[in-house]
Amino acid sequence: MNYYSDEKDWQWLFRNGIDWDKIIPLYYKSFPTEEGFNSKKEVVDFFEEILQNTGEWTGNAVTERAALLDKEGAGKVVDGRTIPSESLQALYNEAIELDSIGLPFPTELGGLGAPSAITLMLLAQLSRACLASSTQMAFFTSIGEMIHRFCDEETAHRLVPMIARGEISGSMCLTEPGCGSDLGMIKTSATPTDDGKYLLNGAKIFITNGGGGLGFVLARIKDDKEGLEGISMFLCEQVLEGQEKLNYIVAKNEDKMGMHGSFTTEVVYENSVATLVGEAGKGFKYMLHLMNEARIAVGMQALGTIEGSLGYAINYAKEREQFGKPLTELPLMKRNLEDFTTERDAIRALLVDTISHYDIFQRLDLKKTKTGDLTKEEEVLFKEASLWTRKRTPLVKYYACEQATLLTQRSIQILGGYGFMEEYPVERFHRDSFGPLLYEGTSQIQALMALKDIMKYAMKDPKRFFSNVLFKHPSKELLNGSNSWEKSFSSSHYKFKKNMVKLLMKCLRPEIGELFNPKAWASDENVSELMEHAETLCQALSYMETARVLCEHANIDEERKDLFFRYQKLILPRLEGIYTDWSIR
Ligand SMILES: Cc1cc2nc3c(=O)[nH]c(=O)nc-3n(C[C@H](O)[C@H](O)[C@H](O)COP(=O)(O)OP(=O)(O)OC[C@H]3O[C@@H](n4cnc5c(N)ncnc54)[C@H](O)[C@@H]3O)c2cc1C
Repeated sequence: MNYYSDEKDWQWLFRNGIDWDKIIPLYYKSFPTEEGFNSKKEVVDFFEEILQNTGEWTGNAVTERAALLDKEGAGKVVDGRTIPSESLQALYNEAIELDSIGLPFPTELGGLGAPSAITLMLLAQLSRACLASSTQMAFFTSIGEMIHRFCDEETAHRLVPMIARGEISGSMCLTEPGCGSDLGMIKTSATPTDDGKYLLNGAKIFITNGGGGLGFVLARIKDDKEGLEGISMFLCEQVLEGQEKLNYIVAKNEDKMGMHGSFTTEVVYENSVATLVGEAGKGFKYMLHLMNEARIAVGMQALGTIEGSLGYAINYAKEREQFGKPLTELPLMKRNLEDFTTERDAIRALLVDTISHYDIFQRLDLKKTKTGDLTKEEEVLFKEASLWTRKRTPLVKYYACEQATLLTQRSIQILGGYGFMEEYPVERFHRDSFGPLLYEGTSQIQALMALKDIMKYAMKDPKRFFSNVLFKHPSKELLNGSNSWEKSFSSSHYKFKKNMVKLLMKCLRPEIGELFNPKAWASDENVSELMEHAETLCQALSYMETARVLCEHANIDEERKDLFFRYQKLILPRLEGIYTDWSIR
């Protein structure tokens, strides 16, 4: 199977769901380009060809190897290094052969200079085949992008081409035994040396691909502030020129519930020489920036997991007969399958729309970082894309990952007893699905980020926030002849906003006349009460954003309205449940 050419929905989304008109000019200023492209169409066709090739690779070789990689595992730890298993090495060899590692790197650093959207779509294809494979490959590409964005020219020219050739990869080292969600507790220390370097001491746990060759490490410079403000980011390489002893060691590879084909390691630093990245004390800020991409990427991994698992289960249900009929024709199964596929297709649409905004945001952000300069039009584009990226990031991570765990469980149920057996891949998809649910910030952390965003908006301009909700009744749009799906979206969106404001009023308890004065109602006690509702709020926001995207897609192509209405049928009862919860708790 080809995970692109055999998928009509992906093809539609590639052509219509990504804003190529805005993205292409950010990568290619004029035509013909140095690479020989004569038009925007040629560029888009070229990107599509890449996805066809990677779709062929992931739909065949990576899928066929997934069970073996799960059995064999990622590899071993020998004398402080990780040694990939045969099947993991085979994956690396194929990726190198296909030239897929350096897709987003600039051409002068050995890459293809392709937009992030392409790399992120490849990540979904890989995850559909095998989540562990996608994770291992992600720690080549994302680390190369980080070096390009944050490190100096010399480091980028030395390391990024090596990553593109598959010679080294890296890791992101945040978590410690005493700190996971609360990174302000980081204990790993960094002591300055006379030659401008730092010596790291401490241990990091649960580090994906800790033995890849280099790591971005969060640590606290000796005597710097407590909490998040005192954290800095360092680049630490495992092998230093002219030094026989390893600069840091991998102490162990964890035995896990799933994702066996991916290394999850403990890394120990003992006077490990490291270079400060950017400015001291800004480590958490840099990491937050990176988390945007990482969290959207994890959303793509979750989507791939849903596609892989559900795709297998649906094919099984078509073949399996009970009560004289294929399972797909039994009324209850039919309804369930319709709901599951609706949610999968809706999440896919939401994610593709999000990576389109993200691509614009990251490209202009990179330009701003490197040149400090954007044109007026670019500033407008940047502001809009940052807004959508910030708003969507916690939602796509939360929604796609929660659904991946749920829908992989449902896939096991579709197969009945067979689903429980290792001979079938759905149990692997389910075991693996807990990884994305936990890393890059748990669901609860995403929910709190989404709430923080709402509060920021409400506190910045309460008058605008509350009037926007209370006085913008959609009756005007309803009367003004918008189509049936727009009417449906407007009325459900209005109801959502009304209920959300009711919840805010209930928890924040503003006095009459104090509504527009945030200092009067944003006390810690009131905000804590609101935090109890963060997860249900995040669910409701995710449903509304998904419905918004489906509505926009139906405007582009009326055939998509069916998906919009099926999705409304799925979420309206869930939203009613959430509103009831808000009113009684
Ligand atoms: C497969 C895998 C790979 C990983 N890879 C990496 C990696 O490459 N690099 C790295 O640095 N780390 C990595 N991690 C670690 C991961 O990021 C952490 O496990 C995660 O951030 C949670 O931290 P914790 O495990 O310490 O849980 P805790 O922070 O102790 O959280 C425990 C529970 O409390 C909840 N909780 C925490 N704070 C709040 C709050 N304010 N309100 C409500 N609930 C809250 C959490 O949601 C969770 O349910 C990986 C983990 C896994 C499973």
